[in-house]
Amino acid sequence: MFLKGKSAIVTGSTSGIGLAIAKAFAAEGASVTINGFGDADAIEQERVGLEQLSGAKALYDAADMSKPDAIYAMVERCHTELGGPDIIVNNAGIQHVAAIEDFPPEKWDAIIAINLSSAWHMMRAAVPHMKAAKWGRILCTASAHSLVASPNKSAYVAAKHGIAGLTKTIALETATDGITVNCISPGYVWTPLVENQIPDTMKSRGLTREQVMNDVLLAAQPTKEFVQPEQVAALALFLCREEAKAITGANYSMDGGWTAA
Ligand code: NAD
Repeated sequence: MFLKGKSAIVTGSTSGIGLAIAKAFAAEGASVTINGFGDADAIEQERVGLEQLSGAKALYDAADMSKPDAIYAMVERCHTELGGPDIIVNNAGIQHVAAIEDFPPEKWDAIIAINLSSAWHMMRAAVPHMKAAKWGRILCTASAHSLVASPNKSAYVAAKHGIAGLTKTIALETATDGITVNCISPGYVWTPLVENQIPDTMKSRGLTREQVMNDVLLAAQPTKEFVQPEQVAALALFLCREEAKAITGANYSMDGGWTAA
């Protein structure tokens, strides 16, 4: 249990990739703060499950990642109740797909706030605690869209390219403080975010479920397989190890070969 005694905040961890990362950290003994939206009973069940996995305390904080004040309050609550934070994972994210002329400005604002600005606020709040401890791990869930673009995803692609640049900058700023800052860039991962796109795409394009999965979603992914959330979590866990302390400012692709093409 190499994370025993460490405290981690994973934003957007009530489902998908964030929840898998929270579980992986708890299984190594970390006190985890989970965050995100969803059914209160289901979230409480996940929180209790994390405590059983880690043998340490777990918190749920409902901070809305589009609200800077809520972000600062969550980091301070974690510091007071669990210590640290020693590890933060900037993972919360949303998507909206539309051509530029049809893209609602409020969706642009929400995606930039949740997918990009929240990571900046999280780092701004957490870095002083990490510097004081002379140890820290900052991870961002970026995307293949931090490296390449797709049409009709202007806000998402801009936010994810921004996350890649932000990661490099804060890595340089903290390089001599025992802190590493890295991002992981998955291709299509099998999560509710992806699964929920299938019925609409079936309807709008007149395709079967199989066709949407293989010809639309996995069209750019040479392996023709979805990445699994647990695979992303395994890499996140590795980047928290002492053996990974020389890795900082990196952007790790986990995209079945998408960005190699
Ligand atoms: P998901 O929809 O399963 O999870 C998103 C999480 O973010 C949920 O816990 C949700 O409640 C939370 N969230 C949304 N808005 C929030 C807000 N305003 N404040 C706090 N929490 C909020 O999605 P996922 O696929 O697990 O995505 C997680 C991250 O991975 C995102 O940043 C996404 O862009 C990125 N990603 C996903 C894929 C994929 O194919 N699924 C690929 C590359 C990158």
